[in-house]
Amino acid sequence: MERYQLEELEIIFDCAGRDDWGKFSFPVWYGIPVKMNWREYRYDFNLRGGLKKVSGGPRVWPDPQDVLKRTDGNDFIYYGTHGYESSYDLIKNYYVPFNGMYGSDLFAENPLEGRPVRQALDGFDELTIEAGRLAAAAACDRPREFLQRVAVRNRERLAEEAKTLHRIIGANLPVLPPDTIDVDYEVIPLILTEGCTYNCRFCLFKTTGGFRVRSPQNIAAQISSLKDFYGADLINYNSLMLGQNNALAAGEELLVGAAEMAYELLNLSASYHRGRPNLFMFGSVDSFLEADQSLLDRMERLPYRTSINVGMESFDQETLDRLGKPLQAERVREAFRKMQAVNRCRSNISVSCNFVLGGDLPSRHLETIKTVLAAETTARDRGAVYLSPLIGTSRRREILKEFREIKMSSPLPVFIYLAQRL
Ligand code: SF4
Repeated sequence: MERYQLEELEIIFDCAGRDDWGKFSFPVWYGIPVKMNWREYRYDFNLRGGLKKVSGGPRVWPDPQDVLKRTDGNDFIYYGTHGYESSYDLIKNYYVPFNGMYGSDLFAENPLEGRPVRQALDGFDELTIEAGRLAAAAACDRPREFLQRVAVRNRERLAEEAKTLHRIIGANLPVLPPDTIDVDYEVIPLILTEGCTYNCRFCLFKTTGGFRVRSPQNIAAQISSLKDFYGADLINYNSLMLGQNNALAAGEELLVGAAEMAYELLNLSASYHRGRPNLFMFGSVDSFLEADQSLLDRMERLPYRTSINVGMESFDQETLDRLGKPLQAERVREAFRKMQAVNRCRSNISVSCNFVLGGDLPSRHLETIKTVLAAETTARDRGAVYLSPLIGTSRRREILKEFREIKMSSPLPVFIYLAQRL
């Protein structure tokens, strides 16, 4: 580590954090941020000079374990630990991510609107001004150049950068696959398809227009621009998210070609994070059932660990009808059986699935999930079943009760998904 003290500001370079995305019940950091300690606050920056995380000392921050994180889409997520006993069992993370948008009904309060967060961000505004002043006076190149990057990245500029990212991919990601929690949602987005074939009535994540596939030229242009956008900070990523809500339906050539091209051009093999890079995507019940041996064989040979998340929602026909999901329950069961077969046979592909929870759904919904999961005889640590609380209808107590009933009946890992976006 290389430290510089400029008046009250301490800058620390080469802060080698964890390279394994491991989960811990105490604060750790991942990758290589640049850390700044200023007044009562601790700020982490990415290597481009953009704000990444904030926490603070006891006089200004609710808990030394809590962290405020800024995403590349310029959303803030508050990672808290208070009041969520057994949070790992609940969401596969010791820190509960709150983004103020999805799953809010499960939280007793909104930490993003509290005074500590407001003051920390006001402090960040002051820090960007201070960084400009200190850069002008700094004697050494390294802190001077980094402070200059921080000084120009105030909150307005960070919002502009997020717009640039969305312009590059020509869309946003209204929801990330739940398995991205395994890399703390640190994914590079690449859009292969837009729109949904199902357009389910209940869903708040669907995007406008019919289902469509991007051209190879568009995908190549996205990858090239993403390389420039992430620049010096690319080393901190080893995960690619193929968007939007059904990239599995992009077709074998396009999907495999895009994954290979991104691996090469984004230099994912040189990531700071060890192990195979990750490839995340959503699939629909139909695109997953249509994924043939040829596609799965080629995915298996990719230099990634591939995670496919399939939105199944329910095994019960009445529930599917009420949700406005145009699917036959038998297709859902078939997809679930295929999911188990893929997870058994493929070492570089894992498939997880989603079911909805909460709301005024038929009692058979919960019963069929419990029955089908209980029929699985082999316990596995991958291929999780995620339960997504229906937005706007969730009540904390009922949701947690239903979740526990399902979890206790299942040999497969079961977690609640608090949706995140990018
Ligand atoms: S639930 Fe999935 S398939 Fe249905 S509209 Fe939403 S994103 Fe599309």
